[in-house]
Amino acid sequence: MSASENTQKLRELFTVTSKQFSLRGILCVTCYEPVYNALMQVQKEHLKMITGIRHTEFMKNGFIVSIAYAYPEGIIENIGLCNEGVFDIDAWNIYAKWYQKLNYTLNETANRIAKKFNGIPLPATSEGISKKVESVKDYFPTTVSHRVHTEQSGIGWRGRNSLIINPVYSCTIRLAGVITSIPLNVTPKLEADCGNCTSCLDVCTFLRHKDKLDDYREQCLAYINWLSLDDEVCGKCIKACVNSPRMNTLESTSELDLSPLFYTKPI
Ligand code: SF4
Ligand code: SF4
Repeated sequence: MSASENTQKLRELFTVTSKQFSLRGILCVTCYEPVYNALMQVQKEHLKMITGIRHTEFMKNGFIVSIAYAYPEGIIENIGLCNEGVFDIDAWNIYAKWYQKLNYTLNETANRIAKKFNGIPLPATSEGISKKVESVKDYFPTTVSHRVHTEQSGIGWRGRNSLIINPVYSCTIRLAGVITSIPLNVTPKLEADCGNCTSCLDVCTFLRHKDKLDDYREQCLAYINWLSLDDEVCGKCIKACVNSPRMNTLESTSELDLSPLFYTKPI
């Protein structure tokens, strides 16, 4: 089958699956080689370990299918709510529960796509790891960065909060991927950025001072562990982004061509 026919089949499968989970999805495709080249060395080794003898084949003819599911509307607003000056942990845990649910549905979706397209799934996350590692550097060799392939496939741009910012859903998305050598149509990288926005920096002192810190992600990890929610999350920089002037401007001006991105529900 041609790349266009395969891409159509892939979109149909993703549409059916996201409908089954009642989630809003995004699907894009990029090439394997530039993703491999952009990874940090320890993640290159991890990707080679995952792909084994197929790594050479993927370097020549490989693709990565980037998938994302968006949190249902309203979930993100539970992040960081306060009652009389005290964090409302029950509300915040609604977000933490959805983080788990999106990881589960992404893994299921990636497995289904991998099975149909003779591929290898890249799961959403390595859960339960934040309290086991002493430093974020211990985490890097255990994963392949979804931010690298989703940035290259055009799901979003890299925001000042280091997350992938989709023009429609901001960073209220979770990510996964599938590696395959079945020919597919590749989607272009997004030409967009944060502009003058600083909303995420305004809510997080670690992000705001990241240029002065060795690695702000160490402080972020410590804060997440201190919060001790039902999963390893904070999310204040996500809530700030979705409510930021930059995202509101994008909504009102439709400044971007969204046609290469495949959305599974009306925007
Ligand atoms: S998750 Fe929380 S602590 Fe980490 S960068 Fe975002 S706002 Fe800051
Ligand atoms: S809040 Fe603003 S600066 Fe931060 S990632 Fe979102 S758009 Fe970019």
